[in-house]
Amino acid sequence: MATTKDYYATLGVERGATDADVKKAFRKLAQQWHPDVNQDAEAQARFKEINEAYQVLSDPERRQRYDVFGSAGLEGDPNIGGFGGFADIFDAFFGGAAGAQAGRRGRPAAGSDLRYDLRITFTEAVLGTEKELVFPVLGRCETCDGSGAKPGTQAVACTQCNGRGEVRSVRQTMLGQMVNVTACPRCHGNGKMVESPCETCRGDGRTERRRNLRVTIPPGIDEGHQIRISNEGEVGPRGGPAGSLYVAVHVAPHAQLKRDGTELYFEATVGIAQAALGTRIVVPTVEGEEDVEVKPGTQPGTEIRLRGRGVPHLRRTGSRGDLHVIVDVAVPTRLSKAERDALKAYADVSGEIVADGGGILDRVRDALG
Ligand SMILES: [Zn+2]
Ligand SMILES: [Zn+2]
Repeated sequence: MATTKDYYATLGVERGATDADVKKAFRKLAQQWHPDVNQDAEAQARFKEINEAYQVLSDPERRQRYDVFGSAGLEGDPNIGGFGGFADIFDAFFGGAAGAQAGRRGRPAAGSDLRYDLRITFTEAVLGTEKELVFPVLGRCETCDGSGAKPGTQAVACTQCNGRGEVRSVRQTMLGQMVNVTACPRCHGNGKMVESPCETCRGDGRTERRRNLRVTIPPGIDEGHQIRISNEGEVGPRGGPAGSLYVAVHVAPHAQLKRDGTELYFEATVGIAQAALGTRIVVPTVEGEEDVEVKPGTQPGTEIRLRGRGVPHLRRTGSRGDLHVIVDVAVPTRLSKAERDALKAYADVSGEIVADGGGILDRVRDALG
């Protein structure tokens, strides 16, 4: 069972940090915490965390697994230390490895956010849908109800910080007395320690389980949108609040329709006779095929607008974009003899002066045919 670690917080970078940002942050922290240069008692453990975070975030494949599944996605990775080993037990007893929980001292740390990549069809994105997501997640341990303490026992206040989650040290400097407040190294800012850990979760307060979650995808969602579902991420260790689940939506392209926001575009091609005399064409829509009239005398590039057949507005209910049919007129490039004769006869009647024959290829084909 993996203890969830917030590698982004450990390196102090944003979730969207580039490789260069990650490397830069790691170098800076490594210089500060490397046990060779830093004699602090905490330095070795801290350096180990920083190094582990870097091993994950600097590797695109590991980082992807971590982003989607949290630490659980890295379980069994021999290069990522700590899971199920000594560090795991240590973290479970002393408050997680999310680094200093600045601003959250004395309160249980929140669980990690999760990301789920969801692929849907073009039509599902336009009309909305419901999907069942199945994913592994760290949930509250049922044996100890998340406390991490063996049933019948209780978590006790940390003896080093008396449950405050922070320690103060006073230094005399040239500028006078300086008070330094840091997260308690023993409980990592949690304020509590478990003396008799729950046997099911080994004191972490969480167990891994499969979650089946039905989510509603609203009409009008688009590629790259994220749906945040609060409280569906991992729960925090020892009763900490749950993080959020981010559903990243990926929309498959449509074979014939193009989308721009709430507007849909379809390119139709008609022949010169159809453009001149008018015709009916079949237009694909998200509700199925539709028969559309092309009026006599339609010019190339003419737009036929099917009002309200585009994409519903994501936030304004009842408002929906249009489907724009752009009519292209194809001028034939290879004519049979009969076609050419017919066009010449048309040119005679309309008084258009045209070149004598077809191209050389047409003449060869006529000779062969
Ligand atoms: Zn438990
Ligand atoms: Zn403490």
